Amino acid sequence: NLILFWHRKDLRINDNIGLSEAEKYSKKIIGFFCLDPYILNGDDVAPARVKYMMGCLAELRQKYQERGGTFLIFKESPKNIIPSLMKKLQGKAIFWNKDVEPYSRNRDREIAQILKDENIEYNVFWDQLMHPPGDVLTKSNNSPYSVYGPFWRSWEKLEKRSPFFAPTSLIGLDEKETEIVNQLGAMDLPTAEALGYDWQGNFMLAPGENAALERLDYFCSDLLVNYDEHRNFPAMDGTSLLSAALKFGAIAPRTIWQKTVEEWENTQSDEARENITAWRKELAWREFYQHCLYFFPELAQGPYREHFKNFPWENDEKKFQAWCEGKTGYPIVDAAMRQLNETGWMHNRCRMIVASFLTKDLIIDWRWGEKYFMQKLYDGDLAANNGGWQWSASSGMDPKPLRIFNPASQAQKFDPEAQYIRQWLPEIRFLDTKDLVTGKITPMDATSYGYVPPIVDHKEQQRKFKALYAQVKEQW
Ligand code: FAD
Repeated sequence: NLILFWHRKDLRINDNIGLSEAEKYSKKIIGFFCLDPYILNGDDVAPARVKYMMGCLAELRQKYQERGGTFLIFKESPKNIIPSLMKKLQGKAIFWNKDVEPYSRNRDREIAQILKDENIEYNVFWDQLMHPPGDVLTKSNNSPYSVYGPFWRSWEKLEKRSPFFAPTSLIGLDEKETEIVNQLGAMDLPTAEALGYDWQGNFMLAPGENAALERLDYFCSDLLVNYDEHRNFPAMDGTSLLSAALKFGAIAPRTIWQKTVEEWENTQSDEARENITAWRKELAWREFYQHCLYFFPELAQGPYREHFKNFPWENDEKKFQAWCEGKTGYPIVDAAMRQLNETGWMHNRCRMIVASFLTKDLIIDWRWGEKYFMQKLYDGDLAANNGGWQWSASSGMDPKPLRIFNPASQAQKFDPEAQYIRQWLPEIRFLDTKDLVTGKITPMDATSYGYVPPIVDHKEQQRKFKALYAQVKEQW
């Protein structure tokens, strides 16, 4: 019996529910991945993300091969390739894990229909979430949560599944079958560059399952104990760096959860356990936003809150450009944007600061920032990114009306020695720490060091934004 396993956002062999289920059918599981032209040709693709993904795929293919199996790559729409593959290889069934994104859901629905019409068996599973949509609902009327706090309280209480075992051996394609898949367009794994995405930066964490598992071990044994405090300081190595691995499924949430359980049981310290809870809450944010996108797919199109639908954003192109390039004259904002541009990653504290700055100080539509993030982040993920941006713009699910971050107070609190600012803005690293964190750099100093004076005045912009917000709210 030949089984096809379609990898998507689960680029790993361990603790993969769909793959474990497939193994119950047969050892001859042929793994494959489609480089979907629709996704790759989009205008929100980050070269760093493509490179990370290709790294994950290379490792996954190797894991298949080490087990005696075959892993195929196609550069083709899955809708075109899957039915032909199944028929030509006389596959018994195809398996995959589900996703919450609107594009994926529509695509999967169409493919499922084709398979049904052709009488081909397919089996689908929820794998990338501890608790799939529909498992975490309000007690009062069984509806999805739109506020994180109560979501977390319900989510936390639900029983968690243990990790699933990886197949230890697989059977690959024979010669005749290999010829068939080659005729169907199976290709060698291309590089990101060959796909038109050139990125030469260094990842915060190398792609793939091995690096993610190693980092998980290190993070849990050395960093988790201080997570709640250290996670706020962008100059520190205080967070897991697992976001891209989670996005592409190079690591499973169950594996992570299991590790937190072990850490919990290894300690009697309340403080250590508070830190574990703080991290679990972040993992739950990831799931919350995925549930939100699943139940409210319209989030992907625009603001959730009505009065933001016609917000009079100023959308000044020049200011947007300055923000993108890290040239706003606000050191903490600029340092963060340079980190993003150079590494394809940004610390969470800084994501909140720059998002607030774009929307509340520059009065630019959050969707511009959302898209720019997607064009740069190697962990860029629709649910988390859209959730983060709508949270920052105050247009999203959370009921708190306005969140305005003061860049200077944020820097004073979370980068008090200006280490982070100095790292990313080397041109002004000689200035006094006080000037760097408060951003009070004279225009002459700024210019002579090759930096820029502030492009807006925070206080003035804050007043302006609040007035616009009050106006819009009144009309609504
Ligand atoms: P840790 O602190 O170690 O957290 C563990 C995991 O929990 C993360 O890897 C991530 O999967 C999840 N997580 C943590 N915080 C959040 C959060 N606020 N929302 C959703 N999931 C969370 N995260 C992405 O994965 N992709 C994005 O595209 C993305 N865009 C963002 C945009 C904005 C404007 C904001 C404010 C946040 C965004 N985040 C995004 C969330 C968060 O910034 C990153 O997940 C986090 O910085 C990744 O670092 P880490 O893996 O070290 O996180």
